[in-house]
Amino acid sequence: MSDYLDLAFNLPLTGTFTYRAPEKACTVGCRVVAPFGRRSLAGFVVGRRASLPAGLAVSAVKSATRVIDPEPLFDQRYLELARWVSRLYLCSLGEALAAMLPGGRRESDPPSLAGDEPVSAKPLTLTAEQVSAVETIRTEPQKPFYLYGITGSGKTEVFLQAAERVLSNGRGVIYLVPEIALTHQLIETVQARFGGGCAVLHSRLTPSQRLNEWRRIQRGEARLVIGARSAVFAPLPRLGLIVLDEEHEGSYKSGSTPRYHARQVAMKRCSDEKAALVMGSATPSVEAWQLMTEGRIRRLVLSSRPAGGAMPRIETVDLKPVNGTLSAQLISAIEETHREGRQTILFLNRRGFAYFFFCRSCGFSMKCSRCSVSLTYHRSRDAMICHYCGYRTRPVSVCPDCGSLDVGYTGFGTEKVEEEVRHRFPDLNVQRVDADTVRKRGALETTLSEFRSGKIDVLLGTQMVAKGLNFPGVKLVGIIHADTGLALPDFRAAERTFGLIVQVAGRAGRYSPDGRVIIQTLRPGHDAIRRAAVADIEGFYSGELEVRRQLAFPPFSRIIRLVLRGRDRSQLDAAAQDLADRIAPHLRDGAEVLGPAECPLGVISRNHRVQLLCRLVSFDTGHAVVRDTVARARLPGGVYLEIDVDPVNLL
Ligand code: ADP
Ligand code: ZN
Ligand code: ZN
Repeated sequence: MSDYLDLAFNLPLTGTFTYRAPEKACTVGCRVVAPFGRRSLAGFVVGRRASLPAGLAVSAVKSATRVIDPEPLFDQRYLELARWVSRLYLCSLGEALAAMLPGGRRESDPPSLAGDEPVSAKPLTLTAEQVSAVETIRTEPQKPFYLYGITGSGKTEVFLQAAERVLSNGRGVIYLVPEIALTHQLIETVQARFGGGCAVLHSRLTPSQRLNEWRRIQRGEARLVIGARSAVFAPLPRLGLIVLDEEHEGSYKSGSTPRYHARQVAMKRCSDEKAALVMGSATPSVEAWQLMTEGRIRRLVLSSRPAGGAMPRIETVDLKPVNGTLSAQLISAIEETHREGRQTILFLNRRGFAYFFFCRSCGFSMKCSRCSVSLTYHRSRDAMICHYCGYRTRPVSVCPDCGSLDVGYTGFGTEKVEEEVRHRFPDLNVQRVDADTVRKRGALETTLSEFRSGKIDVLLGTQMVAKGLNFPGVKLVGIIHADTGLALPDFRAAERTFGLIVQVAGRAGRYSPDGRVIIQTLRPGHDAIRRAAVADIEGFYSGELEVRRQLAFPPFSRIIRLVLRGRDRSQLDAAAQDLADRIAPHLRDGAEVLGPAECPLGVISRNHRVQLLCRLVSFDTGHAVVRDTVARARLPGGVYLEIDVDPVNLL
């Protein structure tokens, strides 16, 4: 009988802690309560032992007080996955387990949306392309697959039929979606087709409901699991397939420790558990595109819309001569759409923040010559700053590109746009949907069902409307400022802008042949906008990959981002410089440390934020250097370190 337990706690502490086992027998995978310092904490049992580790006196060992779980929450194999998470993402084993298991933190709580399309309880008759995709997935599951298909090409049906095959072979499926609130229709379909054998892990489950679902999955009662990011950790006993829909979505990356990416975890699990992995999107991430090009992910293509809709007609309008936010073309298109009894979605990119330089004559924006990310104008310091490497320069009053004096420093306010639309169309019913309106419970459901029923003429929306909302009445989609996102100090700005335009444009003409999209932009010539407008997907990716190659950004390097946070800016700068000095000399073959630089979001709730970007060429070596440095680092009191391996968001 083992008398001692090794416990891991959800704390940023390396190593495990040995306790005397409580009376009741408990095994690896259970949680127990144990005294820790002056507190009493829940710990994960990660090992059992008959004798104490060398050097630990019996008198120093405390007793765990209580067993929480009668049955283990995880097994040995799962523990190995947790160790992998903790190694890769540089967190403790307890932090990894806390993120993976139920009963941990709650995710955000978005409302659920009413279904917008009829659900089909019977499998649809597949098109030839769909058949070939399902067959390939069934017969050659060794490599990961990428279902690359235009919006509305029927990717869902391929995922479902691939899942059905796996389920009928007695194995389990994890179906990942970026946001469970926007998947009402999928859930209805799945429940209609597969009945009670599925588990939906949504954020509204209480901790005990979550635990219940976990048990059903562990016992093999629920073999199809649908959920957002964290569902990638669902404990299916015989995993056969992971589906990762909308692979490009940023929500697959966790925003808190451990900052794991569901795609990376899915790849790891599928290769360990000999399961198939199928990702899908109309706008793959640049990283995934590169893997497809190299043949490390197998591409499956869907090129038509089986439900009959056509790709919309896309026009680009140059905003430079326009006074205000609505061009004459967009105004008359909205009027025309309304006269025909159809509806309009106006898309606002809210991610614009702070102040950026732009030229009203040519659309030029100022970039750092080393990092190629936009410089941010800081009015209080009267400087243009690169938030990657810290470069700063004096602001200019003449456009460096065309010599025009008509330049400005500005961001775009969304409330202003709403005001202008209402003012321009007093007779139309205009409603806004964004993070602010979503906060009121039920408000979003109401607005969307009113839009569906035709009560609302114009829906003004942010990112939310780009994701999977399908309204048959929509003819026109207007993108107000397609280029706001381009000015963000992030090397993925072009990729995001491009993806967003293609996704938003996909909302038009889902069901009709006459869909129309108007893209308003100050920079009609920019690659991301020009190519999105003509749906030149391949052209965009090859151009973007070339830029990334030249600047050695991912996928041609990997980044570990270290963010230091604290009240005292000079203390932060010193600590960050110290870390940089300890890491940089050990990096090899062109790897380097960028910064310290102030984060683009330089102050959050009175905490300053300073970052280092470790750009690695040989990942394993660089990762080890960062890991060892961080483990040995002694940060001054009041300075906190956040580690992000392969960051997606650099704000
Ligand atoms: P995607 O996820 O690729 O954007 P969806 O999976 O939402 O596209 O499919 C778009 C529409 O096409 C849906 O209404 C779906 O029911 C329909 N559809 C998919 N496959 C078929 C098919 N084989 N025959 C008829 N309709 C289909
Ligand atoms: Zn200019
Ligand atoms: Zn720079």
